[in-house]
Amino acid sequence: MSMITMEELKSSMCKWPIGDPRKKKTFLFCGAGREEGGSYCEEHSAMSRRGFNAAPTTQEDTTKKAA
Ligand SMILES: [Zn+2]
Repeated sequence: MSMITMEELKSSMCKWPIGDPRKKKTFLFCGAGREEGGSYCEEHSAMSRRGFNAAPTTQEDTTKKAA
């Protein structure tokens, strides 16, 4: 897993948030190759499907606009 900052996040990358959103300097994204048709990599897609709700949808909307 190679973690990236919000500025480095591209639409083809996994948007899984890592860290505390209130601490912008340490708040990172997974950045791995995204699953086709999904917002996350294989690992994090599986996690979200299992009901692990760590990814706020508002964050996803913001990054979509930026990309
Ligand atoms: Zn990921």
